[in-house]
Amino acid sequence: MAQALQSEQVVEDLKSRLEGVAKNLVFEVYGADGMPWGTPFSELEDVSVELGRCLSRMIMEAAAGGQAEQTSDAPPEYEVCPTCGQPVGEAKSRSRPLTTRAGEVQWNEPQRYCRKCRRAFFPSGEESAAGGGRGSQPGGSSEGGVCRSE
Ligand SMILES: [Zn+2]
Repeated sequence: MAQALQSEQVVEDLKSRLEGVAKNLVFEVYGADGMPWGTPFSELEDVSVELGRCLSRMIMEAAAGGQAEQTSDAPPEYEVCPTCGQPVGEAKSRSRPLTTRAGEVQWNEPQRYCRKCRRAFFPSGEESAAGGGRGSQPGGSSEGGVCRSE
């Protein structure tokens, strides 16, 4: 397994890129003249937080969806049934929804099928894309679908 990323360090490393993205978004939202005088700060806050949540969902979907497409890189334990230990076969991909702190995300992930147990399952576990058990915190508003990337 790859070394755990420290989110603060990732943010620090990407800070100048993020600043560029933020300035671009301000331009897209308010135009070349910037935010007009008289704009309530609460409006700016609403737009900013929603953009951030949407970006967060897109990052998670891109990473989890990209990983799911690379089944040849999957660890060998993904090729055996977690219940009985028998080798498993490919099963069709299924949409995989997950509630995160940034709202609902989903991606397509191939399943495995165990003939002995007669069950299909996600090799990375039912709850988590990466098998780390993080990410699914119930609660938080889940207006997923607002910014689907497809
Ligand atoms: Zn089995």
